[in-house]
Amino acid sequence: MPTYEFRCHECAQTFDVQRPMSASADPAPCPDGHPNTVKLLSTIALTGAAGGEGARMPVGGGGGGGCCGGACGCG
Ligand SMILES: [Zn+2]
Repeated sequence: MPTYEFRCHECAQTFDVQRPMSASADPAPCPDGHPNTVKLLSTIALTGAAGGEGARMPVGGGGGGGCCGGACGCG
């Protein structure tokens, strides 16, 4: 199940909520009970059982731009 990160406007803390993707747009109160929260879009992590190793992004690419869309086969 995806984990979505939210931030509370009231107390400025961030917190994670696990929920199905169908409910990703639902509001989530912060752990202190404040309803005024916003979902952070950049951090959607899949919680798997495969540990953390093995799916690392290549380092150093993307400087020139457009590599992964072309013929270099970095994907
Ligand atoms: Zn709060």
